[in-house]
Amino acid sequence: MKAAPFEYARAASIAEACDLLARHGDSAKLLAGGQSLVPMMAMRLVRPAFLVDINEIAALKFVRREKDAARIGACTRQCVVERDEALTERVPLLRQALKWVGHIQTRNRGTVGGSLAHADPSAELPLAAQVLGAKMALRSAKGTRVLDAEKFFSGPMTTAMRPDECLEEIHWPAWSWRHTGSAFTEISVRHGDFAMVAAAAQIAIDGDGRCVRAAFGLGGAGGTPLAFPKIAARLVGTRLDDAVVNDAAHAAATETEPGGDLHASAEYRRHLAGVLAARALREARERARSM
Ligand SMILES: Cc1cc2nc3c(=O)[nH]c(=O)nc-3n(C[C@H](O)[C@H](O)[C@H](O)COP(=O)(O)OP(=O)(O)OC[C@H]3O[C@@H](n4cnc5c(N)ncnc54)[C@H](O)[C@@H]3O)c2cc1C
Repeated sequence: MKAAPFEYARAASIAEACDLLARHGDSAKLLAGGQSLVPMMAMRLVRPAFLVDINEIAALKFVRREKDAARIGACTRQCVVERDEALTERVPLLRQALKWVGHIQTRNRGTVGGSLAHADPSAELPLAAQVLGAKMALRSAKGTRVLDAEKFFSGPMTTAMRPDECLEEIHWPAWSWRHTGSAFTEISVRHGDFAMVAAAAQIAIDGDGRCVRAAFGLGGAGGTPLAFPKIAARLVGTRLDDAVVNDAAHAAATETEPGGDLHASAEYRRHLAGVLAARALREARERARSM
C-alpha cells in the first residue's frame, strides 16, 4: 500500500516548523527519522494531510553534557547518541537502551525525539526517560513549556504534546554518585523487534555498599512506560541483597496491567515483568559495586 496524498514542507528553523504546525493544526505531522511515521503512513494507519520535515534544522541536533545532566536535541539521530562515549559516561542507560532499539539501519535515521513522541509503550527510550525522570522541552508558536516524563507519556502511542507543539530537546538527569550502575534488559520475539517486556534500572551505592538512590521501571507492561519511585525508595539504605531486590521487582510486577496478544498472555507478561525487573536491578547493582 502507498501513503494517502499529502503536502510536504522542509522547515529551515524551529520557528518555521512551529508556524507550519500552527497553520495546519491537527492535519499536520512532523517528520523526523520517518522510521515509525512512514511505515504507518504506508499502511494508512495515519493520514496526515501535511508533513513538516524537521531533518534539516541544525538547532534540533546536539548533545550537550552538563554537570548534572545531558541535553539532547530532539532530532539527534539515535546512532549519534549510541556512539557518544562522554555521554555514555554521564548517562549510561541511554546506550544500554539503544542497543535494543531496532537495527543499525533504523538507528542511523531514527531520532531520540521521534521515539519519545511516538510513545510506543514497549519502546526503550521512553522507558529510559521515565526511569531517569527526563524532562521534555516543547515549543509552539505560542511559547515554550517543559513536561516531566511522567506527565509527557499519557497513554499508548499518546503524549501530552499539543498538535501545534514540537519536542525541542530532552534533559536527561546524570547521577553524580561515584558508585552508580545501570542496566537495561528485555525479551522480544526476535532481536530488533519491540520488547514483549523490558526493564531498566539505575542504582547508586555508597562506599559501604548501601543503596543511596534507586530507580527502575518496566516497558510493555501497561499503556505507558512505568516507573516505580515508591518501591525504589524502599531499596535506599539496604545492601541490595537478592531477597530485597526480588521483593521490589515482584511488588512492581503486581502493579502492572499488561495486555495479552498473539505472542504472550497478560499473565506471562506480568511474570516476565518481575523476572526482568529483578535482573535489571541486580545488573545495575553489580555495575555500581564495580565502579
Ligand atoms: C524495522 C524497525 C524496527 C524498529 N524497532 C524498534 C524497537 O525495537 N524499539 C523502538 O523503540 N523503536 C523501534 N523502531 C522505531 C524507531 O525507533 C523509530 O526511530 C522511532 O520510533 C521514531 O523515531 P523517528 O525519528 O523515526 O520518528 P518519525 O517516524 O519521523 O516520527 C514518529 C512520530 O513522532 C512525531 N515526532 C517526531 N519528531 C518529533 C518532534 N521533535 N516533536 C514532536 N513530534 C515529533 C512524528 O510526527 C510522528 O508522529 C523500529 C522501526 C523499524 C522500521
